[in-house]
Amino acid sequence: MKYKRVVVWFRNDLRVHDHAPLFAAAQNAKEIIPVYCFDPRMFSLEEIGFAKTGIHRTKFLIEAVENLRENLKNLGSELIICQGKPEEEVLRIAEVSEANAVFFSEEVTPEEKLVEESLEQNLWKKGIKTEGFWQSTLYHLEDLPFPVSQVPEVFTQFRKECEKYGKIRETYPNPGTLKFPDLNRDKGELPDMKYFGLEEPEPDPRRVLVFKGGEEEGLRRLQTYFWENNCLKDYKQTRNGLLGADYSSKFSAWLALGCLSPRYIYEEVKRYEKEVKKNQSTYWLIFELIWRDYFRFIAKKHGSKIFQLQGIKNDVDNWKRDESLFWKWANGETGIPFVDANMRELNATGFMSNRGRQNVASFLVNDLEIDWRWGAAYFESMLIDYDVCSNWGNWMYVAGVGNDPRENRYFNILRQGQNYDKKGDYVRTWIPELATIPGFDIHIPWDLSTSLLKSCGVSLGGSYPHPMVRFKVYL
Ligand SMILES: Cc1cc2nc3c(=O)[nH]c(=O)nc-3n(C[C@H](O)[C@H](O)[C@H](O)COP(=O)(O)OP(=O)(O)OC[C@H]3O[C@@H](n4cnc5c(N)ncnc54)[C@H](O)[C@@H]3O)c2cc1C
Repeated sequence: MKYKRVVVWFRNDLRVHDHAPLFAAAQNAKEIIPVYCFDPRMFSLEEIGFAKTGIHRTKFLIEAVENLRENLKNLGSELIICQGKPEEEVLRIAEVSEANAVFFSEEVTPEEKLVEESLEQNLWKKGIKTEGFWQSTLYHLEDLPFPVSQVPEVFTQFRKECEKYGKIRETYPNPGTLKFPDLNRDKGELPDMKYFGLEEPEPDPRRVLVFKGGEEEGLRRLQTYFWENNCLKDYKQTRNGLLGADYSSKFSAWLALGCLSPRYIYEEVKRYEKEVKKNQSTYWLIFELIWRDYFRFIAKKHGSKIFQLQGIKNDVDNWKRDESLFWKWANGETGIPFVDANMRELNATGFMSNRGRQNVASFLVNDLEIDWRWGAAYFESMLIDYDVCSNWGNWMYVAGVGNDPRENRYFNILRQGQNYDKKGDYVRTWIPELATIPGFDIHIPWDLSTSLLKSCGVSLGGSYPHPMVRFKVYL
C-alpha cells in the first residue's frame, strides 16, 4: 500500500459508484477517511438579494450527503461531516488524523479552483500529499482528441471530434469494503434547513417528479426511466415536453451533485441498446450528455470569462439593469403566460424543462434586454440541478455572448407556446387564474406578433394577463 491513511474529500461527486478518488484510495491506502464539508460561501447572498443556493437545492444537497453517509456505512466506513471553509476544515481533519494524503475530484471554475488550490497549498506546507482526479464528464479530460486550450468553440465540431477520436472509459468498480480508522472523534451532525436559515420547501402537487437527493434515488430514477417505464426508446420525441415525469430523464439534479455518474448512464444506455432497442432516441441521450461535457470543457478553457458580461465574446454593454422588470420576470408576473408558467414552476419546485429554460432566458435577454448574468444568478439560486458550467454556459449561449454559431438565437415566445403547449395545458397548470377569465382563449394571445410583444415588454406586469393580451382576447 502506498499510503497508511488517506482523506477522500467529497465535493460534487456524492456517490460511491464509479468514483475515481474513492477507488484509488481503496487501492492505495490501508485506511480511508471520507469527508464532506458544507461551505458557508455556497449559501451566501447574491448582489440582487437572493441566496446563492436556494431552498430546493439545499434540501437536495442535505439528502444527498445523508445518503452518501449511508452508502459509505454499507461499505464499512463513515462520513465525517463538517462546516466551514474546506481549505481549513479538510486540512484540520487531515492533520489531526495524521493522514498522508487527500484525494478529491477536480473542478473547473474559478471559485471552486481557488478552494482546491488553497487546500493543496495548505496541505503541502504540512507535508501532506494531494491527488486530484478528473471524473465529472463522459469523456475524460485526458482522452479528448485535443488539448483543453484547443476545445472547439462550436458544439457540433466538439461532438464530432469526440465521437470520432475520443473514447469513453469504463466505470470504476465499486471500491469494496473500506477501513475507517479509529479516530476517537465525533463524525459530525448533518445540518438541517434551519441551520442555513431556510424553510423546508412546500411540496407542490404539480411538480414533475419528487426529486430526492442521493445516489440511491438517482440510480432508482435511472431504473424507472430506462427499465421499468421503458422511456428511453422515445426520448427524442418526448424530450421537449413540459408536463409529467417521463418526457425527459430528469437525471440532471443527480448528475449535478455527482450522485449519478455520466459514464454509468452511458453503460446503461449501451445495455438498453443491446437488450431492448437501439435507435435515434437512445443515441440522443448520449448526445445531450455530450452537451454537458462541452460546457464543462468550455468553462475549463475560458475560466472566469463565462461569468463576465461580455462572455467569451467582446460585446458592448447594452444591457438594462431594471430591478423591477427583473423581479416581474423572476416572480412569473410578466403577463406573458408561457414565461410566467415556467417561472412559477421553477419557483415552486426548483425544476424547469429545457424548453422552458430556453424560452424564459431568451425572453429576459432578448425581449426585456436585462443583464443576462442576473438571470443566470437567479437560476443558480433556484435550480435543483444547478451546475455551474451547464448553467452559465447555456445562459451565455442564449444571451449571444457564448459560442453559438448563429448570430441571434431569438425565441418567439408566443410561437413556442403555441408549438409546445398546443392546448394550453401547461400554462393552465401553473397559472390557474387563466381558466377563470371569461372568454379567455389560450390560443389568441399567442397570435400576437413578436413586435407587439417587444413593444409591451417595457411595461410588463400589473393585472394578469398583460393588458395587451387581454386587449387581443376581447377584440
Ligand atoms: C438557460 C439554461 C440554463 C440551464 N441550466 C442548467 C443547469 O444549471 N444544470 C443542468 O444540468 N442543466 C442546465 N440546463 C440544461 C438543460 O435544460 C437541463 O440539463 C435539462 O433540462 C435537465 O432535464 P433532464 O435531466 O430531464 O434532461 P434530459 O433531456 O433528459 O437530458 C439528459 C441530460 O443531458 C444533459 N443536458 C441536456 N441538455 C443539456 C444542455 N442544454 N446543456 C447541458 N447539459 C444538458 C443534462 O445533464 C441532462 O440531465 C440549462 C439550460 C438552459 C437553456
